[in-house]
Parts: sequence; C-alpha cells; structure tokens
Amino acid sequence: MSFLLLRGLSHSATACILLLLAACAAAPAQPLAAAPVTAAIAPANPTISAVSTPTPLLSFAEWRTLLRSDAIAAGIDAELFDRTFAGITLDPRVVTSDSSQPEFTRPVWEYIDGAVSVSRVAQGRLLKAQHRPTLKAIRSTYAVDHEVLIAIWGMESNYGSNIGSHNVIRSLATLAYDVRRQVFWRSQLLAALQILQAGDGPAQGLIGSWAGAMGQTQFMPTTFNQHAVDFDGDGRRDLWNSTPDALASAAHYLQASGWENGQPWGFEVSLPQGFDYALADPEVRRSVAQWRILGIDPVRTIDANEQSLATLFLPAGHRGPAFLLLNNFRSILKYNNSTAYALAIGLLSDALDGNSGVQAAWPRSDRQLGRSERIELQELLTSKGFEPGPADGIIGANTRKAVRTFQQSLGLPADGYPSHELLQKLR
Ligand code: CA
Repeated sequence: MSFLLLRGLSHSATACILLLLAACAAAPAQPLAAAPVTAAIAPANPTISAVSTPTPLLSFAEWRTLLRSDAIAAGIDAELFDRTFAGITLDPRVVTSDSSQPEFTRPVWEYIDGAVSVSRVAQGRLLKAQHRPTLKAIRSTYAVDHEVLIAIWGMESNYGSNIGSHNVIRSLATLAYDVRRQVFWRSQLLAALQILQAGDGPAQGLIGSWAGAMGQTQFMPTTFNQHAVDFDGDGRRDLWNSTPDALASAAHYLQASGWENGQPWGFEVSLPQGFDYALADPEVRRSVAQWRILGIDPVRTIDANEQSLATLFLPAGHRGPAFLLLNNFRSILKYNNSTAYALAIGLLSDALDGNSGVQAAWPRSDRQLGRSERIELQELLTSKGFEPGPADGIIGANTRKAVRTFQQSLGLPADGYPSHELLQKLR
C-alpha cells in the first residue's frame, strides 16, 4: 500500500473518493487516479490530510517513554520494546510522503491500464497455474476464488516482488508521533509490537511500506493480527516470505468481508439511449433482473444471480464504460476502500480468468480537474447553494450529489462526474 485512504476515515468520504489519490502497492510514489490503498487497512490518505509537519507537544524521547509504558501495560515485553526501539529515530521520508498533496492525479483509465497491464496479466496467469494446489486448498478452507487472490497479490506487491523497504516500527513511530492522527497510528504501532512478540515477523524485522503495510498482501498491523493465517504449517504467519500464508490471509480477510465464492464482482454493461444517469448512484441498489428491465445488459455472457442486488457505476462519467457492481465488489472495498482499486482488482481477476478487457471506450481526451480546480468546483457549488460539503478537493458522495443536482438544473446528463466542462459552466 502506499497510499491510503484511511479506513478510519468515514466510509462516505473514502468510498467515493475515486479519481483522486494515489497509490498502489507496486508503485508507491506514483500518483494514481484512485487511491489504492492497501490492504486492510486504512491508513490515512496522505493526499487528503491536512498538510503540515508534525506538531509535537513532547520530544520524541519523551513520547517514546510514554509509549513504552502503554506498550508494557498492553502486554508487550519491556526487553522486546527496548530492543526494537534501540536506535529508532523519526524518518523524514515518511513525513514527506505523508504530507504530499499532488495537484494532478492520473485518470482512472490510466490507473486501470497500469493495474491490468499485459505483463501483469501474463505473469498472473503463470502464477495461478503454478500455485493451483495451494489455491485449491485455500478455496476449500475459505471459499474464495483463485483469481481475486492472484489479483490482490499482483496489485499489492506485484506478486511479492515489491513489499517495501521501510522499517515498519520506524515508519509507524514517525506517524504516531504526529499529533494529527496519533490514535490510529499508535494502535498500528502497538499491533506491530504484538506481531514481533508473537514471533511472526521475519528475521530482518518488520519490513513494509512507508505507511506500515506489510508483506505480499500489504496488511496493516491491526489487519495482520485479525486476519493473517499460517497456511504452510510452519507455525508462523509469514506474509513476507510465504506465498501460501499471504494468499490464504487475503482469502481469510475476504471471507470475513462477505465474499461470495463463484459470484462475479460485477460486470460491464451497456446502457440504453436516453438512460437516466442519476441512477448511477451508490445509494440506488436494484436486482440484476430489475436493471435488465431498464434496458441495462451485460456486454458479455455472465453467470450472476439475477436476484443479486447491484449498483450502477460510471467511473468516468456517462461518456465512459458502465458497470453493475455486486456484493463481491463491496468485499474488495473492505480490503481497500477505493472504487478504482476495487475495479482494477475485478478487471484483473477477469483477465486472469481469460476474459477480454473493458469493451466501451474511456473518454481519454478528457482533462482531469486538478486539486485546485476541484476545490474551486466545490466553492462554486457552495456559492450556488448545491451543498457539496467542505472544499477539500475530494470528490466524495456529497460533491457528486451536488454535481448531479447542478447537472439536473441545467438539463444535462446527471452522472455526478466533475468534468472540466462542468467547472466552466459553474464559472
Ligand atoms: Ca507459515
């Protein structure tokens, strides 16, 4: 992971952030269209947080002394704490990463292109075949399909080849020392100490992303403690070096998130002429059969329960592809609360299963709004009485709703998509 939307942030704030932020396990430094964050987790989304350097009330040494008391009270062995924190200093790279707020982010189609690249699909198919016995055993235990596990593995760590190089204790100490979100990061830090005490960490210590996501599935420490499993039977939950442990842990987490084995995450659909795009709203849930009555059809044969509830999703507005999203999409969002991430996992899963890619064209000539333009859009919507929420540059549910209402007031397709043309009309 790399970036993060905070799982601790409100669901509505993060679930709809789409198209903002960045991050991805495999390419942490690269701003993406959406915020793939990692597993389980929820670290805070650096690009949406208030930007400042930490404003400590205590020196780091004083803070560490208090942390030591809390850790011991929580059952951490004093000797382990002292050994782990020997020589630990604040990491300026983590502060920099946590404070970055890029003006421009990649559009969702570029993010998808990178996530579902030819090479990632080819490698994933090979690995799926190579690990078939393990995947079958995992499916018997956790009832989670092979493809989604390979897709998560590919997205989170490029199949285990990019698990980060930060000392997780140092990263989390740096983040927890910052008073802005110390409760969240402090709980992650204490969980990391528990992992060490349980003897699950690798010999070289806890290695991970700058934000503390660890191993081939990039689990945050609290997620690790809840969902990591020892699947190869060596007595340790080793998400760094054991692929069976990593894949089974991802399966265990998806199972806990309500995964329905054998059901699709969703599928691409075509919309009829004159369709009311306002129905593409996460709050509008209808059965697949009801959507069909409205003229919405899958672009290829699909095997989904017609009574399953689905929402309609237009990730690039009405001029781009449309998808019906089923329950398994929501399970992926629990893994990483970014719709672009979940869409990428779904499309990569499909590709690993031999399906071709997205049929409809993305509106690649669209220019994305930069952060300052998104803020201006929100300010203009507010000034005209459309209530998009705070002008924070984040296109969440409230902003989309306000955009939709503004579009309806002008008789435009009400897809809730904040295009450059829309900003011009507001100006
Ligand atoms: Ca193991």
